[in-house]
Amino acid sequence: MNQRCLIVGGGTMGSGIALVAVRGGYGVEIVEPLAGARERALAYFERETQRSGDGAVLEQITWLDGIPASSDVELALEAVPERFELKRDVFVALAHAIAPDALLATNTSSLSVAALADVVERPDRVVGLHFFNPPARMALLEVICAPQTSDEMLERAFAVAEKLGKTAVLASDTPGFIVNRVARPFYLQAMRALECELASVEELDALARGVGFRMGPFELMDLIGLDVNFATTESIYARTGAQRFAPVELQRRMVEQGLLGRKAGAGFYNYGNGPPERYEAVAEPQAQSNSDEFVALLGFGPRADELAELLEQRYANVQRIENDELIDELSPQATIVIDAGDGVSDRGEIIAGLDSVLGAESVFFIDAYATDLRRCARRMQHPQRLIGYGVLGALESQHAVEIVDSDDASDDALELAQELFATLGKGAVLVEDSPGLFLGRTVGSIVNEAMIAVAEEVASADDVDTAMRLGANYPIGPVAWGREIGGARIARILKRLADEEGEAFAPHRSLWMLDLAPNPEAEEAVE
Ligand code: NAD
Repeated sequence: MNQRCLIVGGGTMGSGIALVAVRGGYGVEIVEPLAGARERALAYFERETQRSGDGAVLEQITWLDGIPASSDVELALEAVPERFELKRDVFVALAHAIAPDALLATNTSSLSVAALADVVERPDRVVGLHFFNPPARMALLEVICAPQTSDEMLERAFAVAEKLGKTAVLASDTPGFIVNRVARPFYLQAMRALECELASVEELDALARGVGFRMGPFELMDLIGLDVNFATTESIYARTGAQRFAPVELQRRMVEQGLLGRKAGAGFYNYGNGPPERYEAVAEPQAQSNSDEFVALLGFGPRADELAELLEQRYANVQRIENDELIDELSPQATIVIDAGDGVSDRGEIIAGLDSVLGAESVFFIDAYATDLRRCARRMQHPQRLIGYGVLGALESQHAVEIVDSDDASDDALELAQELFATLGKGAVLVEDSPGLFLGRTVGSIVNEAMIAVAEEVASADDVDTAMRLGANYPIGPVAWGREIGGARIARILKRLADEEGEAFAPHRSLWMLDLAPNPEAEEAVE
């Protein structure tokens, strides 16, 4: 006999979960009082099963007007609107209806699972099953363990996830669980950057896509709805009181003005004449090697190695100096000097030294995430030749690079910067100078939030990475990304950000762990 489940609320999530459940082999009963919602759900089932040719599963779905007085289902899940009183009443009715040892689940995104467990008898049977929208397509399921949840019920929740074909991650009952929490800086830092006029919405979105996000933060907020996105931020901020989650004024104003995104016809973009055209910061790598320039690359570490390899493919004349003590060997012919440093230290002094010995026509590129560009320019006799650039982690997976459009830099130097990165096959976007520029500030803060979540035992590092890849389509999990960029490098970026914008954005003490071997036991075993 089929296992059976009861779903309360047949809206966006309830109907999607019902489809996932029947496909997973459950007999499903859905409680949905509104005829309109049922019709929408039926039309959705029709579309979905026509595409996949499994219409027969729909025979396993039964509609109910209200929660039955008694039910022998193994699993009951509520997916009614996000109001505590409503969910509480539904939970009380469900707890009376189902067997005391049946699993009782909530799909809440922002309420406390523990508070819901508190309203029923046998709170040990309560878990959060946080599906993602649309449930039929999103592979992730966050399983939320409340303090009351028993091990046996938790195990059963994981068995349910497996039956439904979902990848389950375990999260503790904390505001925003994993995905909604760790994704906050993607939106908040992007809007803070926009408030500082770092670059335009189109350019910032292009930069985000350039490092592998499927959508930029602004186009994504327009899709989600600015009101929905704002409400999630407000709820996490209200429950944690942590200033880094504080809503951004710009978004509050836009919500008040009805600029809610796609559904309202306007948000960060205007949808009046159909979908807006995407601005792409891309460049085709040059086929021929450039022999007009003489490029010198300073610095060491994986970023410098990768840059050197790419430069050698595209430029005929490349000199590599890995050791600062050999800097005197830098060729006086160098027309382009790229400093990759060690990714962590301020290189102002070394650059100022080079400025006094190299001819004024050569252009200097410095890592703007690590070095304070303004201070460096102040030390130079020829600050017009100084360009700040941002390469975050692996250059191979970064298709767009941010370049600082500083007051000092000459137009010629900025033009050469665009040319240089185009030669390397990278799009370039000009941004204003600010700690971490755009990508450093945004990705750095996401990694920081991931590390805070791990330190606070919201979830394991592996589960955080899985959740962000599957639940938010991140190109790589934030912990793995942090290892690639380097914990000390992220700490450097966030320290500078905190100095300017407040301690709330400071690096977490656990970032250093990113620079340890990922699995020390395994390495010891080899030895
Ligand atoms: P929705 O408004 O689309 O659907 C809710 C449905 O519940 C409606 O059809 C409504 O008629 C029905 N309902 C209201 N009161 C009811 C009652 N007493 N008994 C039975 N049905 C009742 O909302 P949604 O987007 O599906 O969200 C449902 C839950 O899922 C919320 O807790 C939300 O936070 C969570 N969630 C939503 C998303 C998302 O992206 N939409 C993602 C994850 C989790």
